[in-house]
Amino acid sequence: MQHFPIFLTVAGRRIVLSGGGDAARAKLRLLFKTEAHLTVFAARPDPQIETWAVENRLTLIRRPMEAGDALCAVLFYAADEDPAEDARTTALARADGALTNIVDNLHDSQFITPAIVDRDPVTIAIGTEGAAPVLARAIKADLEEKLPTALGTLARIGKTFRKAADALPFGRPRRDFWRAYYFNAGPKAIQTGVEAVQPALDALLDTHLTKPQRAGHVAFVGAGPGDPELLTLKARRALDEADVVIHDRLITPQILELARREAILIDAGKEGFGPSMSQAEINARIVEHARTGAQVVRLKGGDATLFGRLDEEIDAVTEAGIGWHIVPGITAASAAVASIGQSLTKRGRNASVRFLTGHDMKGFADHDWKTLAQPGQIAAIYMGKKAARFIQGRLLMHGAAADTPVSVIENASRPDQRMLDTTLARLPADLAQAGLTGPALTFYGLAPRATAAELDAVPPSYLQTPATDLQQEAL
Ligand code: SAH
Repeated sequence: MQHFPIFLTVAGRRIVLSGGGDAARAKLRLLFKTEAHLTVFAARPDPQIETWAVENRLTLIRRPMEAGDALCAVLFYAADEDPAEDARTTALARADGALTNIVDNLHDSQFITPAIVDRDPVTIAIGTEGAAPVLARAIKADLEEKLPTALGTLARIGKTFRKAADALPFGRPRRDFWRAYYFNAGPKAIQTGVEAVQPALDALLDTHLTKPQRAGHVAFVGAGPGDPELLTLKARRALDEADVVIHDRLITPQILELARREAILIDAGKEGFGPSMSQAEINARIVEHARTGAQVVRLKGGDATLFGRLDEEIDAVTEAGIGWHIVPGITAASAAVASIGQSLTKRGRNASVRFLTGHDMKGFADHDWKTLAQPGQIAAIYMGKKAARFIQGRLLMHGAAADTPVSVIENASRPDQRMLDTTLARLPADLAQAGLTGPALTFYGLAPRATAAELDAVPPSYLQTPATDLQQEAL
């Protein structure tokens, strides 16, 4: 982030602008939304600016700017539409201590003005650091459409009610009250008229004050393989509502970003072999928070029901008499197989697929190697990197073909996704050489449909490639 968004106090303060043409006019229209004192320096101002001056909406000084003209100004806009004059006036304003912006000159500006959606006092600022003004405008248009125009009025009335609402306990009860106001009772009341809003607020507060407190609850949520777009809508909603999020090491920062700012985030990060926070401690944390009435999200990579020690956590929660439910997620195997352009089952090739773990609590995990070694078998191996040599040994010992294809997909669905296309014979050596450090899924018996180079070029979905293009590229 090269530009940090803030909301600057400008009410009653000075904003100075140099210029009297189109650029000045456009900027002034925006600045009229503020309660700042506007001063414009222009030797030959546009008639519209003259009119605004007569209407007392700004102070017009009909001469070029001089030293000291921007004293006490918080902001300065150079809208001279002449690079030399812009540079001159900006230098003067800087010397006077104002933050400066040159219209259409990102490079020499100390601040930039975002695209704004105005539902005063609700203001949404959209910035793209100058990279994509078109995108900013599209987002603005989208928001303008989505946000009811009455939102500002509701917020203004809501603000006067904040003290009264403090009668509700801090946290969820208060949030629930405000949510009900903004998304239900408020919009309904305002349809009858602004005067209906205050009584609606009073009635709503009464209802919420007498409402029994919501009990704590635990949602075991699968977060998918890492791409935030691969979260389910239910997972997204659970995150929106969570008071506490207890997450694995596999969860990407982009997904954690989606939790509410006030939510407590707890990293229960487990390392490959053995947990760094003991399972007992994780169980205790989940129960402890849910007991306080919190909505707890236990966020697990992929699908929560696969290799995630889910049952131990459910047992602990059940024993504590706390309600829970599971939100399924997209498991790593699904994301990985998509990234190599394959399907997990195929008519005439394999009618079943196994989900294996490379190791369990006791070390490398044993499986039915004899069956797996037979031709046409396919397995998705989780946590298989360290166990690669062991798995290879067992399979070869049971007669598996040395040239059985093996694909290893690291960081499936993430921007740093990598793929290794190898065979059972070469697996350990190729793995060692590749030096994969992220989570990786190993497909035994499955080769990528296209060459690694072609597939590597496929960007993850959130790099904005439409799905159809993606498929065409991959297949
Ligand atoms: N519940 C998870 C699996 C947990 S076990 C799921 O359903 O996906 C952890 C293992 O999952 C990792 O060691 C790795 O083998 C695999 N894994 C998880 N995320 C992955 C990703 N984005 N890419 C490749 N493998 C991944």
